[in-house]
Amino acid sequence: MRIETKSRLTFKGGSHPSESKGLTVESQIEPGPAVTEVAIMLSQHIGAVCRPLVKKGDMVQAEQKIGDSDAFVSAPIHSPINGKVKAIALRSHAVLGRSEAVVIEAFPNSPTRLTPFKLDDDFDANNYSAEQICDSVRQSGIVGMGGAGFPTRVKIEPDPRLPKETLIINGCECEPYITCDYRIMLEWTRQIIAGMLLAKRASGCSEVFIGIEDNKPKAIEAMNETLRSFSNIDEIQVVPVKTKFPQGGERQLIRAILKKQVPTGGIPPMIGVVVLNVATAAAITEAVVGDLPLTRRVVTVTGEGVGKPGNYYVPIGTSVSELIEFCGGLKEEAVRVILGGPMMGIAIADLTTPITKTSGAITVLTVKQISEAKFTGRQTPCIHCGRCLEVCPEHLNPTKISHAVKYNLLDVAESYYMNACIECGCCSYVCPANIEITGYIKTGKTLLARQKKKMGK
Ligand code: SF4
Ligand code: SF4
Repeated sequence: MRIETKSRLTFKGGSHPSESKGLTVESQIEPGPAVTEVAIMLSQHIGAVCRPLVKKGDMVQAEQKIGDSDAFVSAPIHSPINGKVKAIALRSHAVLGRSEAVVIEAFPNSPTRLTPFKLDDDFDANNYSAEQICDSVRQSGIVGMGGAGFPTRVKIEPDPRLPKETLIINGCECEPYITCDYRIMLEWTRQIIAGMLLAKRASGCSEVFIGIEDNKPKAIEAMNETLRSFSNIDEIQVVPVKTKFPQGGERQLIRAILKKQVPTGGIPPMIGVVVLNVATAAAITEAVVGDLPLTRRVVTVTGEGVGKPGNYYVPIGTSVSELIEFCGGLKEEAVRVILGGPMMGIAIADLTTPITKTSGAITVLTVKQISEAKFTGRQTPCIHCGRCLEVCPEHLNPTKISHAVKYNLLDVAESYYMNACIECGCCSYVCPANIEITGYIKTGKTLLARQKKKMGK
């Protein structure tokens, strides 16, 4: 049977940056470095920061819980290696600046897990109760691995006030250069589907969609073919969606598949929808079936500025520098290291920054790549062309918000719904005046949050 992959399902706005995935799209997932030291951030998620459960000098085992919080919206952290706690110390964090981490030195020659969990053929989601699944997901510290970092247990746990009806598995990897989710869809297909069935059971959703962009026909076919090897999959549908950036945004995916709108400033459960990234679904299987906490993830290391681009299964807490060294090191022409991709990632100067649960990629760009891809250029005054308004997938007025931030009028920026910006970067990408609109908005959001905290709001 021929599977139709071209799709017209989409959202309004967005842009079409060059995909640039050729460097790693065919690279199978390989084991990452056998690390000598990891720094596990106490804050890797939306919600309460963990408090350390260990102190300097303590011995820890691989998969041991080393930090937790009593708050409902939080997620514990675990050690990926056997070792000794060297310090609880500040480390560079791409978003938070400097933030506390548990630094662990590996025992010399201690074995470390380099391969992912493999699912048995006789897997049956019905063998696990909803409570059991939610508890495993919470204890394993799973958070949204697509970048948002929202604790997954909070997403899937049933809430009588807001019943969940639809589960969407997000297989849209729209950010240029990044291919980790694509490889997971091809290589860990059964784990994704098992995780999806477990999440469906836990959340009580009656319908499930797996949304994949139509530039990934092999992933669509792999998912359809593997689905047929499972039973009770009548309510599950693989849905190709149109290739466009940021199709992987959960609000955009919901709009494309369900034609529903998540309220401005709201979250998908408010309209009965749960969205989980494909890597998160695979992590649910590892946690519930394999009893393994989230201590490793696949990271795409890419860009013309790195020696050996590829997709690597990496212990969380590995430093960016150690991972880059493992991948052949920085080339002479490398000028920018981005945690993430060029549209939504964050350029970092401190390469000791550790990989967290939400770090899907390291992109190392050269001057040539930057100028070709139009990711930067000399800034000139706004010519009021309106392109930023046309592409904004959240229908905001990016130019007015950024202008208000520039002149420190944060209340004005807020009145233009600054906090509804999903920081997709489309406005900056299309701006002919090269105004760093998204940068202004990100800064404005941070300043506004600080101002509110100071005022106790
Ligand atoms: S304002 Fe925000 S959501 Fe809109 S295009 Fe710019 S970055 Fe994206
Ligand atoms: S795209 Fe740039 S130049 Fe055009 S209106 Fe927006 S900010 Fe101004």
